[in-house]
Amino acid sequence: MTASVSRQADLRARAEGLFPGGVNSPVRAFRSVGRPPLVLDAGSGARVRDADGRWYVDWIGSWGPALLGHARAEVVEAVRAAALDGFALGATSPREVDLGELVRAAMPSMERLRFTSSGTEAAMSAVRLARGATGRDLVIKLAGGYHGHSDGLLVEAGSGVATLAIPGSAGVPAATASATIVVPYNDAPAVEAAFAAHPDRIAAIIVEPVAANAGVIPPADGYLARLRELTAANGAVLIFDEVITGFRVAHGGAQARYSVTPDLTVLGKIVGGGMPVGAYGGRRDLMDLVAPIGPVYQAGTLSGHPLAMAAGAATLRLLTPEIYAGLEATGAALEAGLADAAAEAGVTVGITRVGSLLTVFFRDGAPANAAQAFESDRAAYARFFGVMLDAGILLAPSQFEAWFLSAAHGPAELDQTLAAARPAFAAAAGR
Ligand SMILES: *Cc1c(COP(=O)(O)O)cnc(C)c1O
Repeated sequence: MTASVSRQADLRARAEGLFPGGVNSPVRAFRSVGRPPLVLDAGSGARVRDADGRWYVDWIGSWGPALLGHARAEVVEAVRAAALDGFALGATSPREVDLGELVRAAMPSMERLRFTSSGTEAAMSAVRLARGATGRDLVIKLAGGYHGHSDGLLVEAGSGVATLAIPGSAGVPAATASATIVVPYNDAPAVEAAFAAHPDRIAAIIVEPVAANAGVIPPADGYLARLRELTAANGAVLIFDEVITGFRVAHGGAQARYSVTPDLTVLGKIVGGGMPVGAYGGRRDLMDLVAPIGPVYQAGTLSGHPLAMAAGAATLRLLTPEIYAGLEATGAALEAGLADAAAEAGVTVGITRVGSLLTVFFRDGAPANAAQAFESDRAAYARFFGVMLDAGILLAPSQFEAWFLSAAHGPAELDQTLAAARPAFAAAAGR
């Protein structure tokens, strides 16, 4: 008898022989939910297909970029057209100017901006610029906030760092880590205390205006405005990391939704329409400190790559007010349906949502910060995840991530998800 190995199992085994943990980014592993990682080979709209040909309703959404769903025709066509013009030509291209103007129109606080190839680079560069501008070394970040994997920003980070329950990362020099001050999210007095403890030494606060990497945690009323006041009063730069929230919680990002204007903004994910793009930008006087006109160096061989710019621009052009109204409606229906399903199963959960970002926390009530989020019952989440997956509903393989809704999620995907949620909540409750 010949052993029948599925194509997915074969690819998974080969990946494990190539990549640490079989993945090229830790969040793609399913370790915390006790399942083998999926190998996905296609996506269309709100659905993705594994390498054995099985389709799933996808709530991972490429971890944020897929606001319009997968393989949207206009975006595919824009990338094809860009490819025919040659890939990166090593000089400014019309497509960079096009996307740059679209970004600034959505976020006028980005008077000048620069494209990078990832959110990590953009966040790292924004922090470097803040240090260069202020001549100060210390940076405040929020516990559970994720800003990519640059050394200083990995301290008490969210996303995969939180999922794997590691306090930071090995390999980060102590001196680098000690330049990062970590305070709890939604705790303005802690920020005030940090400024008082280190007068004239804090260059910047970097914050996800809606925390979305410890699960979704909305900002408390007035919190972001208070950060704006405290940074201004202390001569520090306010950096909004809008890699997730940009173009998602509103066309103009969280800064538009909450009417608080940062000095610098970091973008990624949606701005690239599914291609590798990051951006940072903000006040002109700050951005004029970036090379070649200023002393803060930052560069990238493939920055502003035309295929990526084309995908981003095609995506941004499709983001109408109707898209955001639809996302809000889908989000509200999903939230209400999940709350009902949990109540029917007798499970206590805290559901948080900001527009098309949602998390079901297996704990009593919505958390206000990462420490509270981390009190969630991870084993219950793993049981919930497993029943959902077996029913063809793909969630992030971690309690501490968002559900990323897309404009392609319609009534069929909602119904299928909520039907599966009933037995999944029962399983989470141990029945
Ligand atoms: C994903 C993410 C990043 C890092 O972006 P990459 O493109 O993965 O480097 C930074 N900040 C936030 C808020 C993110 O969610």
